[in-house]
Amino acid sequence: MTAVKRFPTPRVLDELARHFDRAGFRCFLVGGALRNIALRGKPTDYDLATDAHPGDVQRIFRRVIPTGIQHGTVTVLYKGHQFEVTTFRTESTYSDSRRPDSVAFSTSIEEDLSRRDFTINGMALDLVNREFHDPYGGLEDIDSKTVRAIGEPAERFSEDGLRVMRAIRFATQLEFSLDAATREAIPRALPALQRVSAERKRDELVKTIQAAHPARGILLMQETGVMSQLIPELAACDSVAQGEGVNRTVLTHSAYACEGAPADRLEIRLAALLHDVGKVDTYEEDEEVGMRFHGHDAVSADYARAILTRLRFSNDVTSTVAHLVRHHMFDYDPTGWTDATVRRFISRVGAQYVDDLILLRRADSYGKAGHPVRDRRLEALEEHVREVLAADSALSVRDLAVNGNTLHEEAGIPKGPLMGRTLEFLLESVLQDPAQNTREKLLEIARNYYEQRLQTGR
Ligand code: ATP
Ligand code: MG
Repeated sequence: MTAVKRFPTPRVLDELARHFDRAGFRCFLVGGALRNIALRGKPTDYDLATDAHPGDVQRIFRRVIPTGIQHGTVTVLYKGHQFEVTTFRTESTYSDSRRPDSVAFSTSIEEDLSRRDFTINGMALDLVNREFHDPYGGLEDIDSKTVRAIGEPAERFSEDGLRVMRAIRFATQLEFSLDAATREAIPRALPALQRVSAERKRDELVKTIQAAHPARGILLMQETGVMSQLIPELAACDSVAQGEGVNRTVLTHSAYACEGAPADRLEIRLAALLHDVGKVDTYEEDEEVGMRFHGHDAVSADYARAILTRLRFSNDVTSTVAHLVRHHMFDYDPTGWTDATVRRFISRVGAQYVDDLILLRRADSYGKAGHPVRDRRLEALEEHVREVLAADSALSVRDLAVNGNTLHEEAGIPKGPLMGRTLEFLLESVLQDPAQNTREKLLEIARNYYEQRLQTGR
């Protein structure tokens, strides 16, 4: 089958291309769109390349959004579809390896393809005359499942250090292998990666860990030295031996734990990746129990916060991940945990985080085994949590039958730190026994508590 037959395109795309043609411009399907058609028979989005400048595109089409006009990219809205249209570019210089200094437009598709990163991304299909351009053998590399740099890998990586992470990201997402020369060039390109902005690195990391099988990508980052630069705290976990197989070191365990978390839940994937990162600092040999990592949940949470802040994750993502990591060490015991224990657990971690913590724990088990494992204790906890939540008893200070104002007015408790401690005490009482959650009972408990504090002076 000739190459071009592998790229059936929808009619709307051919129509769009005719508008370019009529205006005297060329229009090519490029990048991820072609890759995905070749791999899966259909594209996820449409990346187009043209010799028309952004201003020309704005004249040809009525609805054009200047999404990345500084890079020569606009988005054309046409018949209910979106098309990313980028003017042909030449390889611009990256003097600081952070981002191109300037965009230089080109008139040839060949030149445009030559500045692209990998052969699988360096193909173009002329949508008017249906000519397929594949100067670097991208289609062959798709068939052999290989990520290969266009040209000299070391040179391409030094132009833009992010490409080392992109190589690993594509290998992970597509489940391809890295061409040997491309892989060998990565360690020497790490100084260039160092100069890349945290935001660009974060976006590639996110795409890598959101793949169906991120463990391979994480291990590739470790083996090539990318991890020691990106998250040195996690790279150091490879020196802490833990068990066997995927559970061999804390690093390999974390890679698989990440894989065991749901792919569409970024916070849980990140929490799984970082949940044990404090084990390096807390490792102790204990005569009786062997290895111990006392307090590693709190240390890991602090590290997770520092790592995610450094990588410019949002405050929301950072706090959620740190919170999940902080609380991942609960130990459910079906005979020992009463309803009150479960209420205290939910109250401590927050009702909205319980499901995620259970998912994190499942990921942790996957990270020990390398495959999903049935954890009956965890299932029992889930069931117990469901029962407790269904009973709708108070689980936080907000759910109490009294508030600070009532305590102040009715029991004379001054507003301030003591009020906070009183409310906590009331919550403790209600978690222990939900029947205490009435206005009269809580006022009585509060009065007694306050009197005792006055007597002991605390
Ligand atoms: P995705 O499905 O993730 O969008 P994609 O191949 O479209 O995959 P993008 O990051 O959207 O990837 O980039 C679009 C195209 O632009 C790539 O296929 C590649 O040809 C080129 N490209 C993007 N970033 C770089 C880079 N840093 N260096 C060289 N070429 C790049
Ligand atoms: Mg794309």
